[in-house]
Amino acid sequence: MLSLIKLPRVFTINQVPKVFHEDSIISGYRHPRSSATDCILSLFQLTNETLNIWTHFLPTWYFLWKLVTVVLMQTAWQDSFTWPMVIFLLSCCIYPLASSCAHTFSSMSVRARHICFFFDYGALSFYSLGSAIIYSAYVFPDKWVNSSFHQWYIPIAVANTVICTNLACYSRLGLPFLQYNHDTVKRFPEHQSPKFSKFLRVVAFAFPYLFDSIPLFYRVFLCVGEGCTDSDTNILHYYHIALAFLTGFLFATHLPERLAPGSFDYIGHSHQLFHVCGVLGTHFQMQALEQDMVTRRPWLLNHSIPITFANSLGAALLCVLVNLTIIILYSLPLLSARVCQDRKHHRSPKKPSAKLCPCS
Ligand SMILES: [Zn+2]
Repeated sequence: MLSLIKLPRVFTINQVPKVFHEDSIISGYRHPRSSATDCILSLFQLTNETLNIWTHFLPTWYFLWKLVTVVLMQTAWQDSFTWPMVIFLLSCCIYPLASSCAHTFSSMSVRARHICFFFDYGALSFYSLGSAIIYSAYVFPDKWVNSSFHQWYIPIAVANTVICTNLACYSRLGLPFLQYNHDTVKRFPEHQSPKFSKFLRVVAFAFPYLFDSIPLFYRVFLCVGEGCTDSDTNILHYYHIALAFLTGFLFATHLPERLAPGSFDYIGHSHQLFHVCGVLGTHFQMQALEQDMVTRRPWLLNHSIPITFANSLGAALLCVLVNLTIIILYSLPLLSARVCQDRKHHRSPKKPSAKLCPCS
C-alpha cells in the first residue's frame, strides 16, 4: 500500500527561490509550488519542515484537551471568573494550530507562504492578548490590583496586538498596495534584507510579551514586603519565564545550525527547538495560571476588578476582528489571482523562479 504513495522529492537550497531559504538550512526543501496533497504528504516524509509541523500540531491537541476540560468540568459559561482561563486556553490552541498549518502549506507558492505566515503572526498576537487577559484576572500582585495601570492594562494590550500584527506582517513585504501588490515589491522584500525583517519580527513579538509580563516580572523579581503575592506558584512562573527567554534566543540567533550549516537541516535546527521551548513555556505558564486561579480566587473576587464581558470576551473578540482585518489587508494585494495564475500557467514547475513577484 505504502509503495502506491509516491512521496514528493526534496530540494537543496540552490534549487528553490530565495524567498524560501532558511538561514543555514541547506537541504530538505519541498517544491516551492507543491500541491495541497504534497504538503499534507510531507507530514509523513522527512523534510526540513516536518518537525516544525509536528512540534506544533501535537501540542494543539494537548491544549485543546485542557480547554475542553475547563469548559466542561468547571461549567465555564456560568462562572465569569473562569472566562479569562477559557480565552487563554483558546489562544493556546490557536497559535500552534495556525503555525502547523502555516508550516504545512507554506510551500504551495510564494503568496501562499506570505499569507500562511500572516495568519501565524495574527495567532501569536491573539496569544499575547490571551496572556494579558488572564494576567489581569489572576496574576497581578495584590499591591497593583485596581491601580490605574491595572485599569488600562487590557486596552493597551489590545492596542499592542494591532501594532504587533502590523509590524510582523510589514516585515515580509512592506505596506500593502503602497509598497507591494500582486506583481511588484517596491520596498525591500524579506529575502533581500533578512536581518532587518528578522529584527522587526523579534521586536513585534518581544514587545507585547514584555509589556504583558510587567505585572508578573514585578511580582516575582522585584516586589518585596506586603502585597507581593509570594506563593508556591512563583516557581512555575520562573520555569515559564526562563523558557520564554530561551524561545526568543533561539528565534533570534538561529543556533545551532549557524555553527554547522547543513548539519541540522532535518532534526535539531533552531526553529524546531523554538517551537518545543515555546510549547513547554506555555505548558508551565498554564500550570502556574491554573494554580493562581484556584488559590487566589477568594481574595481576587473580593478585591480585584470584576471580570466582565468587556475586559474578557469582548476584548478577545475585538482583537480577533481587528487582527483579521489587518491580515486581510496585507493579503489582498497577493490575492489578485488572475494575474498570478496566468503567470503560473506559463512557468515550468521544475524551474522555480526567484523573481520579486510575491504571487509566483
Ligand atoms: Zn514556526
